[in-house]
Amino acid sequence: MNSGRPLKDLAASAVQKIAPYIPGKPIEELEREYGVTNIVKLASNENPLGPGPLAVAAIQKSAGEIGLYPDGNGFALKQALANKHGCGIDCITLGNGSNDVLALLSEAYLTADTEAVYSQYSFAVYPIVVQATGATAKVAPALPESAFMPLGHDLIAMRRLVGPLTRLVFVANPNNPTGTWVEAQPLKEFIASIPSTSLVVLDEAYVEYATDVSFPDASKWLSEFPNLVVTRTFSKAFGLAGARVGYALSSPDVADMLNRVRQPFNVSSLALSAACAALRDAEHLAKSVAMNRDGLRQLSIGFVAMGVRPYPSAGNFILIDCAKPAAPLYEALLRAGIIVRPVANYGLPNHLRITIGTREQNERLLAALQAALR
Ligand code: PMP
Repeated sequence: MNSGRPLKDLAASAVQKIAPYIPGKPIEELEREYGVTNIVKLASNENPLGPGPLAVAAIQKSAGEIGLYPDGNGFALKQALANKHGCGIDCITLGNGSNDVLALLSEAYLTADTEAVYSQYSFAVYPIVVQATGATAKVAPALPESAFMPLGHDLIAMRRLVGPLTRLVFVANPNNPTGTWVEAQPLKEFIASIPSTSLVVLDEAYVEYATDVSFPDASKWLSEFPNLVVTRTFSKAFGLAGARVGYALSSPDVADMLNRVRQPFNVSSLALSAACAALRDAEHLAKSVAMNRDGLRQLSIGFVAMGVRPYPSAGNFILIDCAKPAAPLYEALLRAGIIVRPVANYGLPNHLRITIGTREQNERLLAALQAALR
């Protein structure tokens, strides 16, 4: 029987208001829609080198075992991560990407009568996971264009929004899509200022690229701040975005709560093996980080030379201000076989976010953008 009432009206009202996540355009889609070949994807902050050889070999070795459920506790990976971070395995929660862990945090800590704080221009998944719970999002204005870290997190403005109902405060360091970051001392002071009635979720998806000495490794602060949660991923510098594996480091009490809402087998056996192997592959990680450092310089110089302003970045991507609507430029780049990320959905219609590629990919992007700007 059809009463004519739209089925979407049956969904939770907070869910109906969610603006869906817009992913980077897949290569196959561009091929299909535009008939272009030899495509370069610089749209989803993936590692242009892909996975390392040890991770690929581990996946191949595990392939025959996929008839069995994975180890639901991810013991081997947690053990390796506990060694890496010098914490107990009871401090670790594994996720189907770190996105999963962000959703678990919201599910476990937010309800319709609570609040979460994050910054304007911060990672698009925060509003989604917060709104899905019916909690109220308190969005702090970002730092102004004139700031030392333009469009970055304003920790003072964020702190002002934290109240007795706040349960989660999200800080992305470095932040996506801006590339901006907060340095060790102000970040530590900020975490120390957050009352114990709220968790601080420090999203370090791009931390491996931030090799600058003033950049904090906040995983070292967990024993000092029981309400700190640090999230990490294998999707970026480790080159395993398609495998889907990330994790949270937290106090055992928080990990216990996350584990209660976690799906029993949320990380596949292939992802678990690949992540264990990737942790052992220091060479691939170093190569990826070094290539990114060179590419960051190459692109920044190239953008400035064509009169396009790059924002400071500590990640594997750069936000640029094209000083005119970016949609036609995005379109022109697509026709040239290059996929970048428009960020109008973040409220930045004149900007593009460009993942740092290989030297050759970066050269192609610069040439195509220069042509599109003319
Ligand atoms: N945090 C930030 C800041 C990100 O940019 C991303 C990926 N775009 C994620 C978390 C989630 O990545 P994943 O689920 O692949 O770990």
